[in-house]
Amino acid sequence: MHLVMIGGSDAGISAALRARELDPSADVTVVVADAYPNFSICGIPYYVSGEVTHWRNLAHRTVADLEATGMSLRLDTTARRIDPEARKLLLTGPGRAEELIGYDKLIIGTGAVSVRPPVPGITGPDALGTADGVHLLHSMGDTISLMRTLDEAGPSSAVIVGAGYIGLEMAEALTARGLAVIQMERLPEVLPTVDPALGALVHAELSSHGVDVLTGTTVRAISRAEPGAARLRVDAAAADGEQVTRAADMVLVVTGVRPDTALAVSAGATLGVRGAIAVDRGMRTGVPDVFAAGDCVVTHHRLLGETYLPLGTTAHKQGRIAGQNALGGDREFAGSLGTQVVKIFDQAAARTGLRDHEATSAGFDPVTVESEADDHKAYYPGSHRIRMRVTGDRATGRLLGMQLFGHRHAEVAKRIDIAATAIFHGMTIDGIADLDLSYTPPLGSPWEAIQMGAQAWERHVLGCSAAS
Ligand SMILES: Cc1cc2nc3c(=O)[nH]c(=O)nc-3n(C[C@H](O)[C@H](O)[C@H](O)COP(=O)(O)OP(=O)(O)OC[C@H]3O[C@@H](n4cnc5c(N)ncnc54)[C@H](O)[C@@H]3O)c2cc1C
Repeated sequence: MHLVMIGGSDAGISAALRARELDPSADVTVVVADAYPNFSICGIPYYVSGEVTHWRNLAHRTVADLEATGMSLRLDTTARRIDPEARKLLLTGPGRAEELIGYDKLIIGTGAVSVRPPVPGITGPDALGTADGVHLLHSMGDTISLMRTLDEAGPSSAVIVGAGYIGLEMAEALTARGLAVIQMERLPEVLPTVDPALGALVHAELSSHGVDVLTGTTVRAISRAEPGAARLRVDAAAADGEQVTRAADMVLVVTGVRPDTALAVSAGATLGVRGAIAVDRGMRTGVPDVFAAGDCVVTHHRLLGETYLPLGTTAHKQGRIAGQNALGGDREFAGSLGTQVVKIFDQAAARTGLRDHEATSAGFDPVTVESEADDHKAYYPGSHRIRMRVTGDRATGRLLGMQLFGHRHAEVAKRIDIAATAIFHGMTIDGIADLDLSYTPPLGSPWEAIQMGAQAWERHVLGCSAAS
């Protein structure tokens, strides 16, 4: 059995590792367009900030570790065309030499590519590139170009276009390197994956660390400040239409990703939500013997059905399932809840499940209640308040979503994971208050913070005190 994975990031490598784990006799080849297999691109901001001291340290496993599992790696090799009838794959290797290889089962893990907004200076004939100080950020190659600009041009200021989680992590990273950072976001508040009430707290944290945050600001053009000058000029429009112009030594464009599907489409795969490859929950594309996983495919969401949610956690799980099923298994992807967390300087914001408007579109009758609680008993030093937004269904009391904001040491990530576990298992908000959770004053409270959030929701909706 010859299994071929296209892509050497979270999905492709997870598939290869699982296949080798289940069947050590399987012949597994991983084709990777670049020279960075199994790198944690999620860690890039921490390499840029200097907290991770060498790019090699971002590797989950070295090439030698991967090869020790028995897989073959074809680095700097691009898959160009799939012939599903002949079960052949056309590759272009490092020396541009073409080669046709056969497969029994194929797993596509081509991931996503950065979105380039249709803005002069980013796209079109006058597009500026990395040599001009205009960067995108998705791959290790992008990272090495960015570091070259930082090390060689020594910029002292940057405009970051986009304030999603990667934009926020990069605002922190560039600030840590001593750059003055201006962050421009088209939407009314930063981190639009959480409610504006929590986004405003993230905004305040950025501002308190010197980031100049311009929300409701749409970038219209990037150009050189003066002909031949190194400095860049960013022209934007504020929500009221007023022109906003800023100059900076570099610009980082982080406005999201889109699935990389050209290869799958050429093989006859169909596309689904947001142009991602349509797969069933066993990661089958419908093209015989061809599976796909990760940021290139649609995501099954436990509450929404088919959606697109490109996340590393999901890519790992889907890749593992694709690897198992390619060997004849029948495992299904259980589904995502969009659980995510981001650290912004000294604070963290997290969410899982649905926000109010998402729950309404999905046919629920949601109520969202905001409350606050301490992460541990306030009399023990170092306690922090956690801001919570709990979303539940009015009719059934089912927990639909939770959003948290609190100090980076307030265990926000693990608390959102309790909520994710509860939603995964269809628990009611009332049921959360019944959970037997741990307590000691330096680390918690007899009523855990999110149990207090659940009780606040019940008080609001049922008009009675659930706490006793
Ligand atoms: C800066 C940053 C921070 C992030 N932080 C988080 C986080 O904190 N938490 C989280 O859950 N997610 C995070 N993510 C998202 C996460 O990294 C992605 O969801 C995940 O890497 C997707 O993995 P993938 O294997 O599907 O695709 P990708 O990582 O996009 O990899 C695609 C792979 O396919 C290869 N490839 C593409 N085309 C071809 C071809 N034709 N031939 C051969 N090879 C090809 C590429 O070289 C690459 O190896 C972050 C992403 C970035 C950029």
